Amino acid sequence: MNKANDLIAKGIDIIDFGPGEPDFPTPGAISAAAKKAIDDGFTKYTNALGCNDLRKAIARTYRKRYGIELGPEHVIAGTGGKQELFNLMLALVSDGDEVIIPSPYWVSFPDQVTFAGGTPVFAHTRAAEGFRPSLRCIERLATEKTRGMIINSPANPTGAVIPEDELRRIVELCHARGWFLVFDETYEFFLYDGVPHASPAKWFNEFPETIIVVNSMSKTYSMTGWRLGYAIADAEIVSGLGKIQSHSTSNPSSISQFAAIEALQSGDEEIRKMLDAYIERRRWLVPALNSIPGIECRLPDGAFYVFPKVSQLYGKGGITDSTTFAAYLLDAARVAVVPGVAFGADDYVRISYAVSLPRIQEGVGRIQEALARLNS
Ligand code: PLP
Repeated sequence: MNKANDLIAKGIDIIDFGPGEPDFPTPGAISAAAKKAIDDGFTKYTNALGCNDLRKAIARTYRKRYGIELGPEHVIAGTGGKQELFNLMLALVSDGDEVIIPSPYWVSFPDQVTFAGGTPVFAHTRAAEGFRPSLRCIERLATEKTRGMIINSPANPTGAVIPEDELRRIVELCHARGWFLVFDETYEFFLYDGVPHASPAKWFNEFPETIIVVNSMSKTYSMTGWRLGYAIADAEIVSGLGKIQSHSTSNPSSISQFAAIEALQSGDEEIRKMLDAYIERRRWLVPALNSIPGIECRLPDGAFYVFPKVSQLYGKGGITDSTTFAAYLLDAARVAVVPGVAFGADDYVRISYAVSLPRIQEGVGRIQEALARLNS
C-alpha cells in the first residue's frame, strides 16, 4: 500500500482495490447531528464508556432487533470497533492463553491476541466450504490453554457468512468449555442474495458470560473516520473494558457519539442505497474475475470484498506468492490489491469493491491485460 501511495503521490493513476472502507460520504443527517453537537457545546469529556444516551440507544437497537433484555450497563462505546476488540483481548487473555481464530482472518485479530500475551491458534477454512470454520476443526484445536474464540461474520477478507445453526453450535461449544466468543459483526448489513445475518446477540440472555458482540459505525454508516465502535457484553466484562479505556483513551469523541445516536435512529435508508451499489458491483466483478485465466473467485455472501485464488499464476514472470503477485499488478497494471498473506492465505489476494463500478471495470480490464502478457 505504501508503494501504491507513492505512485499515486507522483500523479500515476493507480486503481486502488485496497480500501477497507465504503466509498460513500457519511449520510447528511449524521454529519448534521455532529455539527449540532458542536454548536450545542457537546464537546466535553463524557463517561469513559460512552455517554448514557448512546449506550441506551445501542441497547435499544439490539433489544428491538433480537428481543433480548439489554441495558446500557451491557454496552461500552469506544474509538472504533478495533479499540473494543483490542481492549477485550487485554481484559480476557493472559500470558500463555490460546485463542482460536478462523483463517483467513482479519489482520488485527492475531496481533491483538499476541499483544495481550496470548497465542492465536488458527482454524483453517477452505474455499470449497465457503471459508466457514467447522465445529470438528475447532474441537480438534482445543487444549486446556484455550480461553476463547474470535469469529467475524460476514468476514473480512473472505465474505464468509456463518449460518445460524452453525453459529449456535459454536456458541454451545464455547459455553460448554467455558470459553469466550468474541463475535465481530462489523459487516452485518452487507449481505447478498437473501442470505440472512446470524448474530449470537439473540442468545445473549441465555449465555451472558460467553457471548461478546463487537460492532462499529464505520462500515455500516460510512463513518470510518469518526472512530466509533462498541461492544456488548456481560456487565462485569463491560466494567473491565471500562477500566482499561478510562486509563488509556477515555471516552470516544463526544461529537462522534452524538452522530452515532443519529445514525442508529435514521441511518437505515442510507444503508440500503449503499447496499444497492455493492450488489451491482459484486454482480459485475465476480464473473469478470472468473473470466481471467488463472483466477478463481467464489461469490462471497457478505462484506464488500472478493478473495480470489491466484496461485495458479505463481511461477510466471517472477511471481512466487501473493506479495509478488500484488507487486506485479502494481507495476504492470497500475492496480493495487492486498496480498492474501496478510490474512494468512498466500494463495489469494483481496479485492475491495468499495470502489465505483467504472473504476472496477477499468481495473479488471487492466488486470486482464497484465496477466495476458504473463501467459504470452
Ligand atoms: N473488524 C473488522 C473485521 C474490520 O474489517 C474492521 C475494519 O477494517 C474492524 C473490525 C474495525 O473497524 P473500526 O475500528 O473502524 O470500527
